[in-house]
Amino acid sequence: RAKQGGRGRHCAFDEGLHVETRARREMEVALRQAIENGELELAFQPEVNAGNDRIICLEALLRWNTREHGQLSPGRFLSLAEESRLILPIGEWVLEEACRLAAQWPANLRVAVNISGRQLLDPHFIDHVVKALSVSTLAPQRLVLEVRESAFQRDAGSVRAMLERVVALGCTVTLDDFGSGPSALTHLCELRYAGLKLDRGLIKGAAAGNPESVAMIRAAVALADNLEMTVTAKGVESETDLDVATGLGCGRIQGSCYGSPMRLSEVEQLFGRTEVLPQPGPDEAIVAV
Ligand code: C2E
Ligand code: MG
Ligand code: MG
Repeated sequence: RAKQGGRGRHCAFDEGLHVETRARREMEVALRQAIENGELELAFQPEVNAGNDRIICLEALLRWNTREHGQLSPGRFLSLAEESRLILPIGEWVLEEACRLAAQWPANLRVAVNISGRQLLDPHFIDHVVKALSVSTLAPQRLVLEVRESAFQRDAGSVRAMLERVVALGCTVTLDDFGSGPSALTHLCELRYAGLKLDRGLIKGAAAGNPESVAMIRAAVALADNLEMTVTAKGVESETDLDVATGLGCGRIQGSCYGSPMRLSEVEQLFGRTEVLPQPGPDEAIVAV
């Protein structure tokens, strides 16, 4: 497209590119300051047991409250954070903040934190997890780390070794966005994943009657049953999505039909309406939705 309009157009394109690079650089400078400026915040989205409508876990989702552009979701700044390695201090902040908050929640309710491949290649990552747990006194069993298969693209051996150390601490690891990219069955058996979180696209596909999506969900559920993993359907928005997901055997649901990501104050309101089970089982949280 740059060449189409001859010389003038070409210059305009270069200038556009220049403006874009500058905007990116400015954003990086701002992101570098975001932690000290207290501009980072966590939103939380419930993951619900489809059998009894109880919240099992709250997933922490990063938000950046910028002065210039308002609140930004990770889609707007995560790749920049990863490329600039700012994801390391940011990820450390997320871990500490998530554990600090979760330690004040009803017991048995877990917190899930998304982890980038970059973080898992950092040899200090395990120290950050240990520190976040010990400072907060959160039981390791209540911390879930969500990783995506793309995290294994670079140096899969080191990534796996790091995740094994996390599992050895007592934390659980789930495989996020399953079915969104290339995946290897062998890979699934190499680590003791506690669960699979199915990519939103699979549920959407199945709800639209796409037979390949249905087949993939069935295969994932069968595999998970055999490996004693849980299966979470993500992006469940409508009654149809919900019927399709539960009908295909997904035991857990996450999506706007149960609750969109919410602010901490809303999470706490949820606890106000808490229904406490006398003796919650290992897989039963105590908050009813
Ligand atoms: P994810 O782990 O797949 O998280 C779910 C995303 O889907 C969230 O987007 C959530 O807002 C959105 N979502 C939830 N329910 C629905 C629904 O019913 N319909 C639709 N259309 N979307 C729904 P969000 O918060 O923008 O996060 C995007 C991604 O950024 C996350 O995807 C996760 O991979 C990454 N991320 C978020 N927080 C962190 C973090 O602290 N660290 C790292 N490394 N990555 C993070
Ligand atoms: Mg996730
Ligand atoms: Mg996703």
